[in-house]
Amino acid sequence: MLQLPTYDDVSAAARRLHGLAHRTPVLRSATADRLLKAQVFFKCENLQRMGAFKFRGAFNALSQFTSEQRKAGVITFSSGNHAQAIALAARLLGIPATILMPLDAPQAKMEATRGYGGEVITFDRYTQDREALARQLLSDRGLTLIPPYDHPHVIAGQGTAAMELLEDTGPLDVMFVPLGGGGLLSGSALAVRALAPQCKLYGVEPEAGDDGQQSLRKGEIVHIPTPSTLADGAQTQHLGEYTFGVIRRDVQDIVTATDAQLVDAMRFFAERMKLVVEPTGCLGFAAACHAGLPLEGKRVGVMLSGGNVDLARFAQLIGSQGWA
Ligand SMILES: *Cc1c(COP(=O)(O)O)cnc(C)c1O
Repeated sequence: MLQLPTYDDVSAAARRLHGLAHRTPVLRSATADRLLKAQVFFKCENLQRMGAFKFRGAFNALSQFTSEQRKAGVITFSSGNHAQAIALAARLLGIPATILMPLDAPQAKMEATRGYGGEVITFDRYTQDREALARQLLSDRGLTLIPPYDHPHVIAGQGTAAMELLEDTGPLDVMFVPLGGGGLLSGSALAVRALAPQCKLYGVEPEAGDDGQQSLRKGEIVHIPTPSTLADGAQTQHLGEYTFGVIRRDVQDIVTATDAQLVDAMRFFAERMKLVVEPTGCLGFAAACHAGLPLEGKRVGVMLSGGNVDLARFAQLIGSQGWA
């Protein structure tokens, strides 16, 4: 039996993160309220350090390393926000960080990760097996692997964002949270269960990658090929053991959003709220607008999970009309 993380782990994470992670603002928009005929509260993790909530989980995990683990260092494989989160958290804690990235990862992401002090090791994703490479580095160098979502310390750290949201707003009726591998959603579920048990929590994944929804329906973790979607932070192929354990117990349902709906939401945030939100960060609001759930008169929380999007790409997406 897996030992699932609990709300106590989330509050312990909050104490570790105090003064190190930003307490991001909760913003309102009269237009959003009017659109949804509800009171909408946006938790702005696009304004978190390194631009996404992932700093929370990475720092919470690394700060619990033993002195031997600290000396040897951490390794992870990711080309996205988790890589930058590990690199930044490791730098703050004086822990060496090794990040495996595919050779063809965006240059900007590699630079950002190196900029935070991480050692980037590239591999050819067509000819090399990253798991085998990671295992080799793990044993050669005695490194500790911190995966992007399926780890109790990562989950507990991610849960602090929803915890802060509920502390700031008081009870909510509904909350929407973006879903990739489920670290953010399962952590949020622990906070909701403890602080607002009557609140209905929805995970939102890209329509092209609905493995989470399938898993919930089937009662077991469903694997899919890497989905093609603008939501690159949610291009996961399956949930984790820990994340699914919490999600199946505490989450009301999992719904989906299309890429076109994500672009509309990106444009809304830029135009109406002057916020840069990356496509994956828009999943929650896209579902609030389009998933057909009854929100009228309700108090609705929406997690904006991140804001890391290449500006040329951002301009191209929000500038296009009738995106298909
Ligand atoms: C990683 C990420 C997600 C998905 O988080 P999981 O914990 O994998 O479900 C959502 N939004 C952004 C911006 C991310 O970086």
